[in-house]
Amino acid sequence: MQNHKAGAAVILAVAVDTPLRRLFDYLASDDVAPAIAPGCRVWVPFGRRRAVGVVVELRERSELPVSKLRRIHGVIDHDPIFQLSFLELLRWSADYYRHPVGEVIAAAMPVALRRGAALAVEEISWRLTPGSHERALAELPVRARQLRAAIERLATVPDASPQALQEWAISNATLRKLRERGFVERFSRPAASGAPALTATREGPQLNEAQAAAVSSISGSLGTFATWLLYGVTGSGKTEVYLRAIAASLERGDQALVLVPEIALTPQLIGRFRERFDTELAVLHSGLSDGERLAAWRNARNGTARVVIGTRSAVFVPLARPGVIIIDEENDGSFKQQDGFRYSARDLGIVRAQRHGIPVVLGSATPSLESLARAQRQPGSLLSLPHRAADARPPTLSLVDLRRHADAQGIATPVLLAVRRHLDAGQQVLLFLNRRGYAPVLFCPGCGWAAHCRRCDAHLTVHRNSTDLLCHHCGAQQAAVTVCPNCASPVKPVGQGTERIEETLERLFPQTRLARIDRDSMRRKGELEAVLAEVDRNEIRILVGTQMLTKGHHFPNVTLVVVLNADQGLFSTDFRASERLAQTIVQVAGRAGRAELPGEVLIQTEYPTHPLLTRLLSGGYEAFAEGALREREQAGWPPYARLALLRAEATHPGEPLKFLHAALSAAHEHAVRGVKLLGPAPAPMERRAGRHRAQLLLHAATHGPLQKLMSVWIPQLEILPEARRVRWSIDVDPAELF
Ligand code: ADP
Ligand code: ZN
Ligand code: ZN
Repeated sequence: MQNHKAGAAVILAVAVDTPLRRLFDYLASDDVAPAIAPGCRVWVPFGRRRAVGVVVELRERSELPVSKLRRIHGVIDHDPIFQLSFLELLRWSADYYRHPVGEVIAAAMPVALRRGAALAVEEISWRLTPGSHERALAELPVRARQLRAAIERLATVPDASPQALQEWAISNATLRKLRERGFVERFSRPAASGAPALTATREGPQLNEAQAAAVSSISGSLGTFATWLLYGVTGSGKTEVYLRAIAASLERGDQALVLVPEIALTPQLIGRFRERFDTELAVLHSGLSDGERLAAWRNARNGTARVVIGTRSAVFVPLARPGVIIIDEENDGSFKQQDGFRYSARDLGIVRAQRHGIPVVLGSATPSLESLARAQRQPGSLLSLPHRAADARPPTLSLVDLRRHADAQGIATPVLLAVRRHLDAGQQVLLFLNRRGYAPVLFCPGCGWAAHCRRCDAHLTVHRNSTDLLCHHCGAQQAAVTVCPNCASPVKPVGQGTERIEETLERLFPQTRLARIDRDSMRRKGELEAVLAEVDRNEIRILVGTQMLTKGHHFPNVTLVVVLNADQGLFSTDFRASERLAQTIVQVAGRAGRAELPGEVLIQTEYPTHPLLTRLLSGGYEAFAEGALREREQAGWPPYARLALLRAEATHPGEPLKFLHAALSAAHEHAVRGVKLLGPAPAPMERRAGRHRAQLLLHAATHGPLQKLMSVWIPQLEILPEARRVRWSIDVDPAELF
């Protein structure tokens, strides 16, 4: 750095948290430049504001004349907060997802660091200035007893921490007076950075054969890149395998990073890790305060925390000694960020493992078709746990044909009989419905009118304890009516949500305690834990709920699981809908009969001969996946092709399509071979929250041509005149096609 032209300042390429897709050049004068390395934060003037930036490169020259470059205001870090290799991973992610690099790097920092907070916690200490001990005793009057006592105390130590000052009862006023006379000075020093805590691993159960084989494969790969797919039904002992793999990594002195779905980061799971490892854990979840998040991040980065557990964004937590990455329930939708920087934490976890040269373990009872296809390409990378660990038998699945049976508000008679039977036997039942609220539609039988959201192409949902109708897409509320605004006939709620199922069951089983678990009933913190504890004690016997019920929790005494409506995912326009449906059914089925008690699973449907359901019933998830992969291959969809989706929305109806047509012509100019452009077309729900939406799909057999096109095309989109009238975004490897 020093051998840049003498006298000239050094040029820094800085990432700033802004939607502009580029780095910004600044000057650093020679006196500060030697202290700056890539990965350090600096204060920079940005437009009219002062912004925190991260230095990404030191440059010889800029595209701008040096006279046009502005100077940085100051240096925040003297030690880079990101290592060079990590910074490269972030730049790679920005490139891959075609997202502004400044926003990507900002996303990888805790809020406190984004605002310029110091990485190290500092402590203000006080000490005597050189030679002031005798001088102070000579100059201070004898009656200034407190001041003299403070001097005597401070003379016994090199410096005094806040705790010491408190113990000695030296007040701030005393210190101020002494400082005014130049006897003492304050200074800051880094707080003790806890050395890595001693790690002890407690013993777990004796592994079964499949577990032992999986552990030995993973442990054997420590220190090299490998992608393992750990495929086992719920209760087959996957978590136990993770714990052993982590123990092996800790033994080598390395850390472990564990990514879990949002909803699965429960005290139960954390408890299991704490029980096993007597070491510092960093847990990163959305409930942390800024300070707590910074502390966890810092401990991961400096190696104090040996095990780091977090949701999606934890994939960006730097580690001092990465050893292994675990991604639990890898198929979970929450690993994909659905707005802004639309990354997949699962996919980035794999890239990260590759860059670190360490193994990554993807675990699931229902692996994504992507991961299954990868495992087929890499023989030996599939680790199966075919049996439930603690001798529990798998549940039996059967279909209930809704067309053939009478039903009470959406619950068929055979299902009600089964509920009664399981309750009479002293066991618990769980009913799953992926729709909250009372009823999805308020309908007029007289003229066919239904209550619609004014801002979305969607019906309003009826809620049980509310006089308002609610839009589940934009949150809008509208007063409910009792008679039709068109024909004045009485209106009625049609269809079922979890609240209506709850009402029906309360009526039919008045003596049995029931809990409804969905986003509406579990708003308050700790509420879910309280209910789960009551379920554990067998006080609550009936559980009704949404997706919230399907993950993470263990209900050993639940022996009957009912999927109330399997049909929502059968005929979707989204090619991934059937995969999600199969995963949900298998996951919710996995809640049943985990202990000695065998489970029973009933699936209500109007399409009992649908191939998805019949395959799932006859051959389990494996048979479903095999069929689904064949279909994807024939149709040329992922994982046998790559997609990117350009979305646009605007309040004016025509604008999104106009923009997308302009984008389409721009893409045709580049005509990259192998990229198909499908659309533009209105989104399946065209209007949402008052905005009209449309999309253009990019399709290619491999990622190369897609990236090639996007690298020249996206800068062009930014300057299209039509772009100014819409909000647009690019989604690489989209999880949902709307
Ligand atoms: P998964 O993560 O696949 O759902 P877990 O690892 O949570 O499975 O295991 C399910 C249950 O079986 C847990 O209570 C766990 O303690 C227990 N378990 C796991 N492995 C064994 C084993 N080898 N022997 C006995 N019990 C086990
Ligand atoms: Zn009407
Ligand atoms: Zn709405």
